[in-house]
Amino acid sequence: MDTGTYEFADIIIDISHEKVDKPFQYRIPGALKGQIEIGVRVRIPFGKGNGMRTGYVVGIGSTPEYDVGRIKEISGLAPGSTPVRSQLIKLAWWMKRTYGCTMNQALKTVLPVKQAIKAKEKRTLVCLLDGPALRAAIGEAGKKGYKARKRLLSAFLGTPELSMEAAAKRLKITASTIRPLVEQGALAVQSEEEDRSPVRGAGAWGQKAVLNEEQARAAGRFTADYDAGARGVYLLHGITGSGKTEVYMECMEHVLAQGKQVIVLIPEISLTYQTVMRFYRRFGDRIAILNSRLSDGERFDQWKRAEEGRVSVMIGPRSALFAPFERLGLIIMDEEHEGAYKSETTPRYHAREAAKRRAMDSGASLILGSATPSMEAYQEALLGESRLLVLTRRAVSGRRLPAVEIVDLRAELREGNKSMFSRRLRELIEDRLAKQEQIMLFINRRGYSNFVSCRSCGEPVRCPHCDVSLTLHGKSRLACHYCGYSVPLMEKCPSCGSPYLAGFGAGTQKLEELAKKEFPGSRILRMDADTTARKGGHEAILAAFSAHEADILIGTQMIVKGHDFGRVTLVGVMAADLSLNTPDYRCSERTFQLLTQAAGRAGRGETAGAVVFQTYQPDHYAIRCAASQDYEAFFSQELAYRRAMNYPPLCRMQAVLFSSASPGALGAAADLARDVLLREFEKDGPQRENAQFIGPVHASVYKVNDIYRKILYIKSGKCDILDRIRGILETLASGNEVFRTVAVQYDIS
Ligand code: ADP
Ligand code: ZN
Ligand code: ZN
Repeated sequence: MDTGTYEFADIIIDISHEKVDKPFQYRIPGALKGQIEIGVRVRIPFGKGNGMRTGYVVGIGSTPEYDVGRIKEISGLAPGSTPVRSQLIKLAWWMKRTYGCTMNQALKTVLPVKQAIKAKEKRTLVCLLDGPALRAAIGEAGKKGYKARKRLLSAFLGTPELSMEAAAKRLKITASTIRPLVEQGALAVQSEEEDRSPVRGAGAWGQKAVLNEEQARAAGRFTADYDAGARGVYLLHGITGSGKTEVYMECMEHVLAQGKQVIVLIPEISLTYQTVMRFYRRFGDRIAILNSRLSDGERFDQWKRAEEGRVSVMIGPRSALFAPFERLGLIIMDEEHEGAYKSETTPRYHAREAAKRRAMDSGASLILGSATPSMEAYQEALLGESRLLVLTRRAVSGRRLPAVEIVDLRAELREGNKSMFSRRLRELIEDRLAKQEQIMLFINRRGYSNFVSCRSCGEPVRCPHCDVSLTLHGKSRLACHYCGYSVPLMEKCPSCGSPYLAGFGAGTQKLEELAKKEFPGSRILRMDADTTARKGGHEAILAAFSAHEADILIGTQMIVKGHDFGRVTLVGVMAADLSLNTPDYRCSERTFQLLTQAAGRAGRGETAGAVVFQTYQPDHYAIRCAASQDYEAFFSQELAYRRAMNYPPLCRMQAVLFSSASPGALGAAADLARDVLLREFEKDGPQRENAQFIGPVHASVYKVNDIYRKILYIKSGKCDILDRIRGILETLASGNEVFRTVAVQYDIS
């Protein structure tokens, strides 16, 4: 039989079962040619009895997997197809092609996994009070001496809901504390069986602020476009506290009123009680929420609710993008610059790109919002690929941006101050402590010191499994932040045997200890990956700080993201340049974003705030521009740097990651890949300038968990060239012995 005349389709039967099922190959009959494409629903004969089943096309090709005579034929198109599943399958297909992964990996990303076992009934406590009412209730409970009640209510300052189990175990709350609060309408108890809509019955939704002029203009431009039938991408650039959320909600309401559905993406770390309640108060039970605390079963239930049209707004982190909304009208992506929007596992997709794709495919618009837009998003807005909407003032009048002071640590040292606290920062801390105001101190590194090294031979103590220095935790333990390996601090240098081992630099733990010494009597809380490792640890610390159970909160970047504490009037950044000297072309951008956000934490309440950036590089533009909160100035300097170095957003950059337990095989495979690509591009003649190859080089950490890693970078202005390169490498890897023990992954930025 001449196989060349046939086309074949890979079809999966049930896309929402256990694992995404393995695809089966079918022949496309002549009559259906041209109608079969990725995502289309078809009827097929299945199994021994050839019973009719429905499946989805996930791949098309011309190579039969086995004897053509035995491959069955598609019977026809399936009537009454659910377009949204087809749409998501198409999105998975795009993901596979854009990011270089298998169709199966892509499908698992866009479709949830159904769990066989139903989670046993779980009850949840939900707070129905808004922020001021909640704080008032906490104050009253405190005055009356209701300790348990105060403890329970305070917990809601950091979270929208609390499981009954956590309340009982962690907070030692009994039914006698809960009952009166439920009767007063302060709390509601929910069981898993019901729809999870906290304010149901409270009748409180529909509340909204009157937009100020800037907000109204931004929302007005979107709604006017929407009514004119224009769909597209918008970038809402608004300083911290300018009221971006109110603008989102105005746009959402407009779209919902036309019977459409909305997806709201919010980074997990900002998905707090305060944030979620704002959406609930406006939209009530039309909302479903996804977060990482949900089990697979709960996640699937939320997915079902969306698919059946029982909700029209899905709020959640990255994965909420795949909510099965059939009438999708708008996607909102808050804090679009956040690193968490990029997947760190295969497929390494960026939610911004995937959201654009999904919006385009379903005739929806996309609003990206940020106080510090990513270089990519802002560049697109300047090029006219998206529309720029701006908010330049804080929404609540009288609340100004805090004044930022830059302190030069080199000068401190020259003048004899060896402490981690500059004289200026110490003075301000003492002032705030005296006034009983709160302080946040930010340091970009957890642990005690960053590493321990030998003063005799100069060698740092390294992890035996990874290519990084171990970090000192407490006074006597070393741990690896990459693989979790941990050992007691040794007495002698493992390299030369000298007894002179000492710690360098400082992390959160060291800072906490020093602060206790410098400011005796102050109450200090620490928040980092170590203190929040326990489930709920995060919320408990935020709640305690919010209830003014501490004066100083010390932490890593966790503390600068999205939390509002009205009483914080001083933010100190201990070492503003710590993140500036990492081997990543985005380090200035990250530093600028982090510092701008940290500064935005001060003075959210009525009292004006002060911010101190301590740094060894007081003249660096990322630090200067963050201090003056000047985004445009930062953008233009950073863009000049990216242009000079040919980095994104001025080109696309693809990292090909090779990894292997054998360094020899790794080197051979990476070199072979480069050689094959170079030869291939030689053939292009002058066209070869379209791609630029760098490496292969060692990954910034060469060895992790005993696996060695190398990277080949390819820069190109053209996506299709990167696609072609992936194709070449995939063929090479599947047919070459050298790649047997070497894994290849792709990462595009
Ligand atoms: P952003 O997300 O831009 O940082 P938010 O949307 O969180 O800002 O708004 C900051 C604060 O201002 C919030 O407490 C919000 O309730 C308040 N706010 C925003 N817009 C208005 C408005 N038009 N009228 C009154 N208060 C507003
Ligand atoms: Zn030594
Ligand atoms: Zn390690």
